[in-house]
Amino acid sequence: MKKIAKTINVSEIAERENSLVKEIFSPLSGMKLTMSRMVQNLTGQVSPTINYPEERRSYSDRYRGAHILTAREDGTPRCVACYMCATACPADCIYIEPKEHPDPHIEKQAARFEIDMLRCVFCGFCVDACPEEAIIMSRETEITAFSRGETMWDLVRLMKRPELKEFGMGYRPNETLVDSQVMFVPTEKVQKKMAGRITLKEDVEMIPNVTYKVQDDEKQ
Ligand code: SF4
Ligand code: SF4
Repeated sequence: MKKIAKTINVSEIAERENSLVKEIFSPLSGMKLTMSRMVQNLTGQVSPTINYPEERRSYSDRYRGAHILTAREDGTPRCVACYMCATACPADCIYIEPKEHPDPHIEKQAARFEIDMLRCVFCGFCVDACPEEAIIMSRETEITAFSRGETMWDLVRLMKRPELKEFGMGYRPNETLVDSQVMFVPTEKVQKKMAGRITLKEDVEMIPNVTYKVQDDEKQ
């Protein structure tokens, strides 16, 4: 037997909901919520405000901040100048010039590798496209410059990253780098020293589970 569809009378529902009692109490319940939040703020129970830059929030381990070009064991760039990242980049902000690698087992290396940080939209597509774990991202957000030229990060700028002391690594294909390393990543001792310098709002484990290598000139 065919079922008869239930009829919903929206006018009746609207009349029921428009009762006088409801009209009086609805604003009061809103005010109650506002007042309770105000009291929580004044008594310090909830404080969304932090004293930046002395206090900083911790970003996700997969945060897409400024890029890092990784290195091989001998400190040379891991990049093989394959153009995969530049091809995938929607902002067209990666410039690569290749040259021959002295090792016959490695076809090419980058003679020039630049990222225009003003054009970059920090999407992470370059990291996804890279077959060599040669480009990863950090949690560095404070990218400032006095001139346009300084916003073009070259090979050296992208590889040597003392800023990682404060920010740590971000978006990367493997949590623990498999084939590569970064030129500076803090040791446990340096991390403790850093922790005294800035107050972190939440406990942040700086770059977990990674084999850190400190370059000679960065050793404290
Ligand atoms: S993060 Fe996105 S926009 Fe920036 S260089 Fe990589 S692919 Fe290009
Ligand atoms: S960073 Fe990776 S994807 Fe880009 S050119 Fe180098 S090896 Fe290729």
